[in-house]
Amino acid sequence: MTTGRFAPSPTGALHLGNLRTALLALCFARAGGGRFLIRVEDLTTAPSGGHEASGTERGQLADLRALGIVGDEAVARQSDRLATYRAAVESLQRRGLTYPCFCTRREIREASRAPHGASPEGTYPGTCASLGEAEVRRRRDAGRSPALRLAAGAARVTVHDRLAGEFSSTVDDFVLQRGDGLPAYNLAVVLDDAAQGVDQVVRGADLLETTPRQVLLYDLLGHTRPEYVHVPLVLGPDRERLAKRHGSVTLAGLRDSGWTDEAVLRLLASSIGVPHGAGVSSAEEVAAAFDAAALPPGPWVFDPPGAAPRS
Ligand code: GLU
Repeated sequence: MTTGRFAPSPTGALHLGNLRTALLALCFARAGGGRFLIRVEDLTTAPSGGHEASGTERGQLADLRALGIVGDEAVARQSDRLATYRAAVESLQRRGLTYPCFCTRREIREASRAPHGASPEGTYPGTCASLGEAEVRRRRDAGRSPALRLAAGAARVTVHDRLAGEFSSTVDDFVLQRGDGLPAYNLAVVLDDAAQGVDQVVRGADLLETTPRQVLLYDLLGHTRPEYVHVPLVLGPDRERLAKRHGSVTLAGLRDSGWTDEAVLRLLASSIGVPHGAGVSSAEEVAAAFDAAALPPGPWVFDPPGAAPRS
């Protein structure tokens, strides 16, 4: 049985693109007769170790619920799992697969702009890979707390994505644990999905680029890779990613513009190839009528009401 999930970060109200991805995650999970979970990725948004549901988290879950998108189990939260992340980092550390990195963001930006570093933005050029023990000690003693990076050995990784096909890249020595001790997203997401038995990851196409890093971790940690389904993004009328400046892009904004929740759901349903006429009034009904083969392959363009006049 498939287990799918939607894993929002509580950084603001969900916009129509997030809601559409959540609906698709539910649809793909149910299409395999599977389970569907919701996980709140609050690592960098909650005070560490905090259990308090932030207003944003509550708002996101309420919006999902308003459309009928509800997980089959209690919502999981990353802030509850810090000890698990730490243990995984320690096990990689024991295997000699990590090294401390003292670079600042600026140093990384500058180094990867250097002529020899013709790598994509954000790729780590390996500056701290060969610091000697004495140098590491000196820097620690000077009060700098390093991030921990994976020694990825320039592994070439190919991801098989159900919609995007094959995507390959050379994995850089990405961060596993930040200087402040918090685990990095790429580590946490893999450990969470593995622990929850998630074997189908449906999320926005913008996250495909970072997926090879996660796949490498699946392999190193001995977990089975999930099926990946990176779904096309929602764009505004100017073909840029849907954003606030485009107008009413959240459920609250659309309600203010006179939309009912059902109308929003039907619009999303038709955008994923479930015909308007299906008369659907909850996300589970959309899922029951969903046919993956009818999902339009490209981005969906939405022209929200109430855009501020363009200057
Ligand atoms: N929390 C991430 C986001 O909101 C999604 C991560 C994932 O689905 O793997 O962008």
